[in-house]
Amino acid sequence: MSKLYFYFSAMNAGKTTTLLQSDFNYRERGMNTVCFLPALVAEQWNPLITSRVGLSRVPIVLSNDMDLLTIMAAEMEKQTVSCIFVDEAQFLSKRHVRQLCRIVDRLDIPVLTYGLRTDFQGELFEGSRHLLAWADHLQEIKTICFCGKKAIMTARFDGFGNKVIDGDQIDCGGNDRYISLCRKHHDIVENNHDCISLSAVGEQPGFQDCSSANQVDL
Ligand SMILES: [Zn+2]
Repeated sequence: MSKLYFYFSAMNAGKTTTLLQSDFNYRERGMNTVCFLPALVAEQWNPLITSRVGLSRVPIVLSNDMDLLTIMAAEMEKQTVSCIFVDEAQFLSKRHVRQLCRIVDRLDIPVLTYGLRTDFQGELFEGSRHLLAWADHLQEIKTICFCGKKAIMTARFDGFGNKVIDGDQIDCGGNDRYISLCRKHHDIVENNHDCISLSAVGEQPGFQDCSSANQVDL
């Protein structure tokens, strides 16, 4: 019985690297896989799924009008697909998450999705909301705040390195505009009305009081 998996984290936790390594493991054993990437990311950011460790994969770009169940049913007529991977899954629509559920339940193909849980304001993305609700298996990919605690939030900074506290949920800017923080330090960034810059994170008075907490279990 196949399952729908959602691997979630804050920014820069190695989600794409994990996806590509899992995909590589399937294909190394002679099994076929299919990778999807939401059109928003492919068009505004990078049309490939790539990681810093050198692996990359050409995905099927997923636009709003595509029916994933129909696509995969047609694909299974041509070849057996052992696993489906979805990167940047936070950008999936509710409809696409529903279709992924049907692929698992009707076609019996495992689907592994990877994405951010929340945006820079701490709100769930649409794709993440429905994956958290409907996936069979939830797993956090852990990364740490500069203080050593688990980072579960993401803060956004502008092109000048200054904090951004409102604006569009989706901004496919460079990864260097985002920093993963624990909930406490995200709260400080969001509510400290003094200008906090990216370079100053870690040097502000409010940032120092748990800097010795490096032994916290993630
Ligand atoms: Zn922290």
